Amino acid sequence: MIVEMKTGASQEEVDGVVEKARSLELGVQLNLGTDKVVVALLGSNTGQIPTDIFAVLPGVESVTRIMKPYKLASREFRPRDTRFSVGGVKVGGERVVVIAGPCAVESEKQLMEAAEAVKKAGATVLRGGAFKPRTSPFSFQGLQKKGLELLARAREQFGMPVVTEVVNPQDVELVASYADMLQVGSRNMQNFALLTNAGKSRRPVVLKRGFSCTITEWLLAADYLLAGGNNEVILCERGIRTFEDSVRFSLDISAIPVLKKNSHLPVFVDPSHAAGHYSLVPAIAKAAVAAGADGLLIEVHPNPKEALVDGLQSLTLENFSALMEELRPIAAAVGRSI
Ligand code: PEP
Ligand code: MN
Repeated sequence: MIVEMKTGASQEEVDGVVEKARSLELGVQLNLGTDKVVVALLGSNTGQIPTDIFAVLPGVESVTRIMKPYKLASREFRPRDTRFSVGGVKVGGERVVVIAGPCAVESEKQLMEAAEAVKKAGATVLRGGAFKPRTSPFSFQGLQKKGLELLARAREQFGMPVVTEVVNPQDVELVASYADMLQVGSRNMQNFALLTNAGKSRRPVVLKRGFSCTITEWLLAADYLLAGGNNEVILCERGIRTFEDSVRFSLDISAIPVLKKNSHLPVFVDPSHAAGHYSLVPAIAKAAVAAGADGLLIEVHPNPKEALVDGLQSLTLENFSALMEELRPIAAAVGRSI
């Protein structure tokens, strides 16, 4: 349920709504971003509470029920697009943010070469996995703490914020102490312990779509982060599992407008994991920008042939740089820049 206060409602009037909600054992979240304070009332039984209980309180303009199962991620709660900064890089604005770098941090040389090149080509955030969620326990699991240290070094050397995945709920603080943004991967989209801990973190979170999850389930996962008080969440479409096997995953391009309609959160697209093959990445990346994505997350490796993870879908430094040039006119055509 959402309580919209009148323009200029006093603090006392807002407090009155909050107190009433608490007396009914409801959770409360305030949206202070606009000229009207919006109070979201959260609980499993809000459907049974008559709206009039709040409508009669002083300073209240309207009370509406959010009919969607997700609440805090919904546009009803926050009508305006959410914008924030990731280590100084603005997300959700006019500029399409390109996050690029290797799937996994493999060595200092590999990471620094990738960082230097992607920055030069126009990427503004560096990616690199230190903890890798691998389908097989025998595959390379990432350099872990050493990988985090290398990411921090790359940030210092190139003045670029870094994003890296956190796999274990117990590691949220550790990863947050090195990274500018946390990544919750596709395989962990419904790891509720991880979401709860990441929601308490002061770092922005990029939440990948679970490859077998609906958009509603995805936005409910985002609600876990927002309910913890972390308002800085990016949704990243990275392809879903379908019967089609000519690509690694089927990129759900329609997720972009659907999310834009139903949520205020910025939407990114990862063409690399959807494509599974480097030759398909540019077309998917361009389609994503044309469809209104706020950012891209692209895997780039100085030597994909030698990559320990996801080499086949990784762009070379040259191919990434060429793609950035091709993206610029597309961004311009939809009123954005890159
Ligand atoms: C990744 O970004 O390297 C990754 C593992 O992505 P996803 O969780 O989307 O598979
Ligand atoms: Mn990868």
